Amino acid sequence: MIYLQNFINGKWIDAESKESREILNPATGEVIAHAADGDVADAQAAIGAARKAFDSGDWSELAATDRAAYLYKIADKLEENAEEISRLETLDNGKPLRETQFDVADAVACFRYYAGMVSKPDGITYQVSDPMQAMVVREPVGVCGLIVPWNYPLLMAVWKIAPALAAGNTIVFKPSEITPVTAKWLFEIIEQVGVPAGVANMVMGPGKTVGNEIAESHDVDKVSFTGGTATGRNIMKAAAGNIKKISLELGGKSPNIIFADADFEAAVDYALFGIYAGAGQVCSAGSRLLVEDSIYDRFVEELADRAQKIRVGPGNDPETEMGPLVSREHMEKVLGYIEIGKEEGAKLLCGGRQLKENGLEKGYFVEPTIFVDTKPDMRIVREEIFGPVLVIQRFKDEADAVRLANDTDYGLAAGVFTNDGAKAMRVIKKIRAGITWINCYHPTYNEAPWGGYKQSGIGRGLGTYGYEEFTEVKQININLEVEPTGWFSN
Ligand code: NAD
Repeated sequence: MIYLQNFINGKWIDAESKESREILNPATGEVIAHAADGDVADAQAAIGAARKAFDSGDWSELAATDRAAYLYKIADKLEENAEEISRLETLDNGKPLRETQFDVADAVACFRYYAGMVSKPDGITYQVSDPMQAMVVREPVGVCGLIVPWNYPLLMAVWKIAPALAAGNTIVFKPSEITPVTAKWLFEIIEQVGVPAGVANMVMGPGKTVGNEIAESHDVDKVSFTGGTATGRNIMKAAAGNIKKISLELGGKSPNIIFADADFEAAVDYALFGIYAGAGQVCSAGSRLLVEDSIYDRFVEELADRAQKIRVGPGNDPETEMGPLVSREHMEKVLGYIEIGKEEGAKLLCGGRQLKENGLEKGYFVEPTIFVDTKPDMRIVREEIFGPVLVIQRFKDEADAVRLANDTDYGLAAGVFTNDGAKAMRVIKKIRAGITWINCYHPTYNEAPWGGYKQSGIGRGLGTYGYEEFTEVKQININLEVEPTGWFSN
């Protein structure tokens, strides 16, 4: 049995209340760990430690190359332990090993990317009016609260922790209360490589208490949040007290548009990958498939045929192609949406059930599901389901595709499949979304900015943009000829 404690000011400690929470394997419903269940007091202790560490300058004023050296060491240790960490991530989150192996490799690359960035040229100078010289420097924001969801427990943590630490901030990190297991391994590595006490703190516990305190505290200068749009709205309100800087990576209902002139097999393949990777529990999932009239019937038939052949099972079985949903509560929510879809009059083309056969009965498995005959105002078309449920919409031409694609409150991601390059660019440029793909779906890179338009968020993670989100910009004006201004005559 794994026992998880909070990491505050360089020490592993229980929640002040001594409460703990059971962590379950979503493939079996079995208890795999007990995690300290923190509360407001634990969050405050961590925030206090991060504040003190930031104000001491021990991290923020360290030479950037020295901070980078710590990040490189963290990356090396993560890589050395990659097999064990992916195994634990699969145990905790449920997704197949091939996915968690990919996530851990991506996390390693993310630490290396930001380690490399801190030593690159930084700042700008301006030749303003004589005899003045102006320059711009970037400085850390201060204490950063980092709050993440359960769908990529390690990777979402690293997307925030790597740039925040690289830029010289101190952090209070809160994993999802459902999936805190790999965070323990990450923070043990942070401890082992000797990051000074108080620089990196972790508090486990509910969003309503621990998360809210991080968002509300006046000792926190910035909150970087990934999670649902409704929670993002609460965080914005809580952060208003001290005009905290905020970055929000929120939900989506992303369109994947298939034109008749697309490479048929590639488009079918990516349509499946777009929705069923991670069992659809991916913020950027291509959960709305828009298919052009003239290929609609053939495309949908092929898609449903292949969706039903996806091998659903426990993530630690090498044969498994799609794992369970993360929790019973989340499975009930997804099954609830499937019922809503039927009641709204959409046609269930395939799937729609919880899988209870062949040893899966204790886990949270849902069949790959497809709805057709949908209407744009249906809830299953408008709301994020966050499960293996694809809704298909039919379109007649380019303008119709763009109109349907943009008919959403979200703006996270979008895909377009066509062999007409000019058309692909025309359509992508008209779509109001932050992450887009032409003739593929899902590949994402540490180098490129991640984030959404509209209600999918504020700010960008990853790339230089993600680094800048963890910095303040300061202008420094230097007088090159020091003499009185002469503004007042006496
Ligand atoms: P969630 O919003 O319920 O929880 C996310 C985190 O916020 C958890 O750690 C939770 O404890 C915490 N939290 C909850 N209420 C809080 C509050 N009032 N104050 C502060 N913190 C609070 O989301 P989830 O169910 O864990 O994850 C699924 C959602 O995350 C989906 O909507 C998905 O689209 C989104 N997501 C977005 C991205 C992205 O990059 N845009 C990536 C992954 C997931």
